[in-house]
Amino acid sequence: MILGLDIGGTNTRFALTDEYGSLFTACRVIKSAVFADADRPFQKLASILKEYIQQAGAPSVEIISAGVPATVSKDFKTVFCAPNLKSAEGKPVFDGLPVAELLSAEMGIPVLVNKDVNNLLACDMVLNHLTGTVVGCYIGTGFGTSVCVDGRFIYGKNGYAMDVGHVSILGQKGVCGCGKEGCIETFASGAALNRLRLEYFPEVPGEELFLHHASDPLVSAFVEACAQLPAFLLTCFDPDYVVLGGGVLEMPGFPIERLKDQILHYAGKAVASDPPCFIEDTRYPERGVIGAACFARAYYRQRD
Ligand SMILES: [Zn+2]
Repeated sequence: MILGLDIGGTNTRFALTDEYGSLFTACRVIKSAVFADADRPFQKLASILKEYIQQAGAPSVEIISAGVPATVSKDFKTVFCAPNLKSAEGKPVFDGLPVAELLSAEMGIPVLVNKDVNNLLACDMVLNHLTGTVVGCYIGTGFGTSVCVDGRFIYGKNGYAMDVGHVSILGQKGVCGCGKEGCIETFASGAALNRLRLEYFPEVPGEELFLHHASDPLVSAFVEACAQLPAFLLTCFDPDYVVLGGGVLEMPGFPIERLKDQILHYAGKAVASDPPCFIEDTRYPERGVIGAACFARAYYRQRD
C-alpha cells in the first residue's frame, strides 16, 4: 500500500491508496502551514501521517509518494527550490533539503518525492486516457507545468526541466518567491491574482472575484497573462492534449473559454491552425494524491 501525499503551497492532502491510485481511506486535507510553521517540519508532518495511518487501522504502508510544489532532483530525493512553501516568517521549508531522506528517517519507510504537477498530470492522463504528447498547465499558488511525451515525462539533465513559471520576462519588475525578478509567476499565478484582488477589489471574497469582475480590464489582463505560458508550450511541443487545471482555473466564474481562445491567439500560427484537445478535469480534488500513487507504480515498474 502507498501513502499518497500532495503537498501544496496552501493545502496538503494525503490518503492510503493501492498502486493503481484507488483510495482506501478518505483523503485528509490539512493546511500546509501546520507543519511549515513548526519548529521541526519533518517531525511534525511525520507525526500527522503516522496518526492518520494508525487511525486507518494500521495497514502495511510500503512507501510514501509525495508531490511537492518544487523542482526536484532526478533521483526523486532532493528539493531544489519550493518558493511557494514557506513558514509564516517567509523562510523556505524544503529548499535544498534531501526531503525524501528526512521524511523517510522520521517515518521508517522509503519516500519518493516528485514535482507536484508531474503527479497531477499522471493522474489526469489516467483518468482521461490521454496518450501521445501531453502538456499540463496548473495555475495554483504558482504556475506549474509538466510535459509527457509517449508515456515519458520530461525531466531533463537534473530533473529541473519545465520550471518555466520562473523564467524572467524582459521589463517585468515584480520580485518572485524564488528570489528572482520578473518571473512569469509574479504576474500569472494564484499569488499574483490574490495581490490584484487585495489592491483593487478588497471587498470581494477571494473565491468570488471572477463571479463579479471577470470582464474588468484588470482581471481580463490577468487572464490574458495566464495564456502566455500555455501558448509557448503549445508552440514548443505541438501537443495532442493540453490539460488546464489548478485552483485559479477552478474558481467559480473563471472564463476558461476566453483563456483557451487567448492561448490559441498567442500560440504559433501552425499549431493554432490544428489545435490540441483542451482538457479541464476538476472531478477529484485528490488528483495529486492519486497521481502520487500512479507515479510510484511507474517508478518501480521502470526499475524492475
Ligand atoms: Zn521565480
